[in-house]
Formats: sequence, C-alpha cells, structure tokens
Amino acid sequence: MEYIIDYLYSLKTKKLNRLVAQLSIVPIAQSIIIQSVKSINKVSVKKEYSVKMAEPIRVVVTGAAGQIAYSLLYMIARGEVFGSDQPLILHLLDIPPMVGVLEGVVMELADCALPLLRQVIPTTDPSVGFKDVSAAFLVGAMPRKEGMERKDLLSANVKIFKAQGQAIENFAKKDVKVLVVGNPANTNAFVCANYAPSIPRENFSAMTRLDQNRATSQIATKLGVPISAVKNIIIWGNHSSTQYPDAGQGKVVINGETKSVADAVNDNAYLQGAFVETVQKRGAAVIAARKMSSAMSAAKAACDHMHDWWNGTAPGTFVSMGVCSDGSYNSPKDVIFSFPVVIANKQWKIVEGLNLSDAAKAKLNITAKELQEEKDEALSVLDLSSNL
Ligand code: NAD
Repeated sequence: MEYIIDYLYSLKTKKLNRLVAQLSIVPIAQSIIIQSVKSINKVSVKKEYSVKMAEPIRVVVTGAAGQIAYSLLYMIARGEVFGSDQPLILHLLDIPPMVGVLEGVVMELADCALPLLRQVIPTTDPSVGFKDVSAAFLVGAMPRKEGMERKDLLSANVKIFKAQGQAIENFAKKDVKVLVVGNPANTNAFVCANYAPSIPRENFSAMTRLDQNRATSQIATKLGVPISAVKNIIIWGNHSSTQYPDAGQGKVVINGETKSVADAVNDNAYLQGAFVETVQKRGAAVIAARKMSSAMSAAKAACDHMHDWWNGTAPGTFVSMGVCSDGSYNSPKDVIFSFPVVIANKQWKIVEGLNLSDAAKAKLNITAKELQEEKDEALSVLDLSSNL
C-alpha cells in the first residue's frame, strides 16, 4: 500500500484528479487517491507559505556607470550582500553625461535575468536616487586628474558628498546604512554625515575592507594557507598610503591548530616592513599593471563590508571599517577612522583594549594626523564647522 501512496504522491495534482475520475468504479482506490490529493494540496499550500518572499528593499549605487559599479551591481543583485531571499530594487545614480552608459548597464542587468531583482531605476537626480533607500553604496566621485593638488581633489569631492549627504537627509530611510567608497573615502564620509544630521552618525562608514582583504591575502599566501584560515588582520586609519595594516592581532589556523599570525610568520621584519608597504602600495601596483584602478576587488570588498554590517560578524572575528572616531586608541575624535569592529544587529562596536606596540602607535599617529588635516581642509572648503 505504501508504495502505491508514494507513487500517487509523485504524480501532479492534475494527473491525480484524472485518475480519481478514471478509477471511480473502485471505491477503495478512489478513497486512497482522494486522501493523497488532499494532503498534496495541504503540502503545496504549506510550501507556498514558507517560500513567501520578503518585501523588496531599495539600494542605491552611485557612480553606477563606472567600473567598480559594473562588478558591484551584479554581486548585489545576485543576493551576495542582503541574502538570497531578499528581493531588491536597485537605484542607479550617475551624472548626466553618463546617461547612455547607464542605459547599457540597465540592459545588462535585465539580461542577467536575476530572480531577486524586482526593478532597476536609473537616474541622475539625487532625490530619485536616494528615495527610501535602506542601503547606499557611494562609489561615484571625482577622479584625480593630472596636475591636480590634493586640495583640488578634496574640494571637488566635498561638493559631491555635501549634495549626497543632503539628499540622504531628505529622501533616504532614517536607518539607511551608508558606505562611502569614492576617494578620499574617509573624508567624503565625514562630509556626507555632516549634511545628514537626522541620520545617526554610526550609519556612515568608509571602506577599508579592500585593504583588509589585500592584507589577509598577503598573509595567507606567505603561510601557504587558504584565505579562510586567516582572520583579524586590521587596517587602522585612512584609506590612503598612510594606513597601517596590522597583522599583530591576526590569527591563523594551521593543521587544525589556531596560532597568532606573528608566531606563524615568525618574521617581525617582514610584518613591520614588506607586508605593510605591499598593502599600502597595492592600489598603485594594480594601476601600474592594469592602467586602471582596482575595480573587481573594490566591488568585492564593498560587498563584504555591507554584508557584514547587515548580517553581523562571526564570534571571535573582527573586521575593519572607517567609522566616526570616539577617540579610541588615541585617534582624533570625529574623523572617520578605520578601526577593528564587531557587528551585531546591524550595529558596529569598536574592539577596545587591544595591545599595540610603540611602533604601531607611532604608525597610528601618522595616519591620524593626515585624517585631521583632511578634515580641516574639507571644513575650510565648505566653510562650516563640524556638526558631528
Ligand atoms: P570610475 O571613474 O570608473 O566611475 C566613477 C563614476 O562616478 C563615473 O561613472 C562618474 O560619472 C560617476 N560620478 C561622478 N560624480 C558623480 C556624482 N556626483 N554622482 C553620481 N555619480 C558620479 O571610477 P571607479 O573605478 O568606479 O572608482 C570610483 C571611486 O572609488 C574612485 O573615487 C576611486 O578612487 C574609489 N576607490 C575606492 C576604493 C576604496 O578602497 N575605498 C578602492 C578603489 C577605488
């Protein structure tokens, strides 16, 4: 009897109904089949209920016609950041000269036939771009041109991030999570947060995850272990060549045993010298080789950053994010400084109480000084005092 029922379960409901009609002269068979149809219907109602999807969230990517966005949009739309059961409405913001390129990106996203992607809204209007967004990837920025001084670059970018801060203030959801990728990322995030006073300042961050990923990859290669065996490599300070990549708190699993990276590498000169320099200059090395700046790896890092902010960090693991400084580790207050953080319930917390060597403290001071100078320059360009 059981295998008859199994067979009946394997049939589609329509086929079963047909069978009921055909076998109506055999009462016992009919009753078994009717029971099966009923329970299959129950199962399918249950299934339909359990696969009911969440409401879509709106996510904006600025600089959507650029090279980082070209990789980033696909990764987001595939569900790599917000989850494979979270439908999305993507807002693509760029500037008017890029409208044609943006149209091409929209066509390609459609052609990817991605199940989570419910709608794509290309725009050059920040009031549309930021409307009701839950997450913002601020990638678009003015690139450094030949002969441009740092102050000129800063000046062009603070204007962009002022306008975007105001748009976030006026149009985004109040719990929006903002990740600034466009350089100078830390100071752009500072400016943006300043112009969105009704959004908690904790909701603004700058990306140093690419530097963290680069550093982690260097250590994994040095030790001949998979990347997943290495954790807790820190990037302190600015996303610039003054950043301090610090393997001093790192952990590695080798042959099933967890060790400190310092013990496993057993080469302090490397960890304080070649390792730090390689990570600090990796962006320039990619440009020299590719004749274009890092894009695929930057997009992956932006996904990692937002993924961990959204979903939390694993116990015992921390990640690096540029966040508003509370003065921890002797950093200047109120600059966007990259710290090790742990994340739960979409809230980050700086990891306190780590022991730093005098050499490490000296390196933190260098990057802190640069961030303070950038902040002062930004404030002078904008002619405002910090609201933070
Ligand atoms: P890209 O030049 O290919 O694209 C930038 C896009 O931004 C362009 O389409 C441009 O039209 C757009 N844009 C300019 N101003 C805008 C505005 N006001 N609003 C909306 N869009 C605007 O550059 P990319 O390679 O994609 O890099 C983008 C930024 O990311 C650069 O500033 C780069 O230095 C920075 N970056 C940061 C990291 C990091 O780790 N934080 C890593 C790599 C690159």
